[in-house]
Amino acid sequence: MLLATHYMTTKNYEAVIGMEIHAELATKTKMFCSCLNAPFESEPNANTCPLCMGMPGTLPVINTQAVEWTVDLGYDLGSTVAEFTKWDRKNYYYPDLPKGYQISQYDLPLLEGGAIEFKDSTGEVKRIELTRVHLEEDTGKLVHAADNQSSLVDYNRAGVPLLELVTEPVIHDAETAKKFCQTYQFILQRRGIARASMEKGEMRCEANISVRPVGSKEFGTKVEVKNLNSFRVVERAIKYEIERQIEALENGEELVQETRGWDEVKQKTFSQRKKETAADYRYFPEPDLPPVTPSSLWDLATKARDVRPMPHAEAAEIVSQYGLAQDVAEMFTSDLDAYGFWTELVTELAEPTDQQKEQLKIAASTYVNNDAVRVLNTPQQVELAGLVALGTISKSQIREVVTAVVEKGLEPAEVVETLGLKQMSDESAIEQLVDEVLGENADAVEKIKGGDNKAIGFLVGQVMRKAQGKANPGVVNKILKEKLE
Ligand SMILES: [Zn+2]
Repeated sequence: MLLATHYMTTKNYEAVIGMEIHAELATKTKMFCSCLNAPFESEPNANTCPLCMGMPGTLPVINTQAVEWTVDLGYDLGSTVAEFTKWDRKNYYYPDLPKGYQISQYDLPLLEGGAIEFKDSTGEVKRIELTRVHLEEDTGKLVHAADNQSSLVDYNRAGVPLLELVTEPVIHDAETAKKFCQTYQFILQRRGIARASMEKGEMRCEANISVRPVGSKEFGTKVEVKNLNSFRVVERAIKYEIERQIEALENGEELVQETRGWDEVKQKTFSQRKKETAADYRYFPEPDLPPVTPSSLWDLATKARDVRPMPHAEAAEIVSQYGLAQDVAEMFTSDLDAYGFWTELVTELAEPTDQQKEQLKIAASTYVNNDAVRVLNTPQQVELAGLVALGTISKSQIREVVTAVVEKGLEPAEVVETLGLKQMSDESAIEQLVDEVLGENADAVEKIKGGDNKAIGFLVGQVMRKAQGKANPGVVNKILKEKLE
């Protein structure tokens, strides 16, 4: 009975969720100095200078690449790119913030509005409206000693360009929140502007969660859940927090506005601190940086034309243009490696013929469904699929090529050359073989003319035998049928 009661009460409440996502941009240098943007690859504090260490008398310089990438992203998201934007100081003290303030954007963000769309598990397109996207700088990193007696600080990350995206409070369940984060990650990665690994902390998600009685227009007390460091945790923590808040309300407890963290061991959220309000940060305009007017820096009309469709729309384009299966197209537009594979493949075949499109389909499904191919690295996979797509080798030769690549340490094209696997697609060469076979099998030809189509298969087999199995079966069939008509 307990379960049934709980189900009923959950049904009486609606969760309201807004997401905040920070993502480091993959620029060469930091946001306001010329230090390398390489928070992981170097010795602690190797990529630092007087400016990102917060020394007095230094002056920041805007990294225009970071601003431009944000503008590019803005067109993908359908946001309004600011005519005029400025920088603000967000003041607070913490050992990982040597300046004592973070340069951010307060009232005039670079991007406003826009939306991210994706398909939910039922295949319906969901649209999540965005409030804003702004640029700021990342903080350093504290490394706590194992004995908890001391902490070390690494400023390699201090000053790395950081993009903050905020959604409208329009999400109502954990699964949608997770899918939103995954789609945003792919949009960033597809542009090549961020690596956005959740595991490495290059993308960090926070959820603002409240619950209210179904039908209520007022928002409940908002709780911010931080440190959601994987997509799985995004979903689990939100699910847990919604249940916790409903249970509290049902028990007549008052919820407090606070920041909570996620305890991976206990699989629970836990209270961290009472939420600061904006006033606590004493935001004021950054006096050392000029404002930015994007239209004076770039031709925005050109940028607007370079807009990338939402991933679900790009999948639909792939389906209609190349005839790929829906699930294959969706894989190519949700995983960065697969997307790279696909875009390189279609670049090789800029204007494919119908036959090449057929082979492209085979190559695509080869990538998705053939485990043997997965042992190759990405450039080798692309090369192999390209050989299939161009008709150089047939699908049945894939396994042989992969084995030789692994065993002989050659590249796919070298294997095809060395082992003489090249499929015969040259129509005049195949036509010559077809003519020979037709001349030698007059009785089979008579049978076909008498309506016995089974004999066609026999003739195809004879041509393949003469070609030692290397003739492109599609081309053989086509030429045979033309000759027999
Ligand atoms: Zn620096």
